[in-house]
Amino acid sequence: MLSIKNLNVRFKVNKNYIYAVNGIDLNINKRETVSIIGESGSGKSVTAYSLSGLLPQPPGEITQGEIIFENTNLLKLNNKSLNKIRGNDISIIFQNIDEVLNPNIKIGYQIAEPLLIHENISKKDALKKALDMLKKVDMPNPNETIDFYPDQLSGGMKQRVMIAIALINNPQLLIADEPTTALDVTVQAEILELLKNLKEEYSM
Ligand code: ADP
Ligand code: MG
Repeated sequence: MLSIKNLNVRFKVNKNYIYAVNGIDLNINKRETVSIIGESGSGKSVTAYSLSGLLPQPPGEITQGEIIFENTNLLKLNNKSLNKIRGNDISIIFQNIDEVLNPNIKIGYQIAEPLLIHENISKKDALKKALDMLKKVDMPNPNETIDFYPDQLSGGMKQRVMIAIALINNPQLLIADEPTTALDVTVQAEILELLKNLKEEYSM
């Protein structure tokens, strides 16, 4: 499904280069779970951002390599084609939940938004699907919480919302960048168990 070949990413800071990713190779098969382990600053997030088109360029620059997703080199796509794949076939869950969720928008609309962007669907139907998704991620009292703002939710509940946003378009590849770091240990276990079950259910 995904093949990263000799990926090299650097950042230009002042007049110097930081070589963040140096020749990583990685293959992921359909329905396979792959974990990337490395110390802080070793390039895990930069790799994830590069393959989901979220690398800030500049200062970031992919100097070499290929990212082949389903026979397409993502690095050769224009923004429009990449946007079609991103959030549709490839989704990402971030560690910094509070920077991703909009504090001023009810969570139901935030879950429905990717549907409204990528599919021809009415707002009402999108919200119905958002509610279904909230149930899938085991959100407590989904009929009420769908109208909550992020501030009304616990950390674990917010991470469930982020997972719901990532899954609403049925992606084939789900990237989870330290999805539990901000949570306490019992909630971490719950979220990982949830991801494992959803991975099976959605054949991700
Ligand atoms: P990890 O996720 O493994 O902890 P990162 O992928 O975030 O590490 O970072 C890899 C390297 O890239 C680090 O040295 C980091 O300082 C550098 N880096 C990441 N983002 C930027 C940026 N926007 N500007 C400059 N350097 C960056
Ligand atoms: Mg990181």
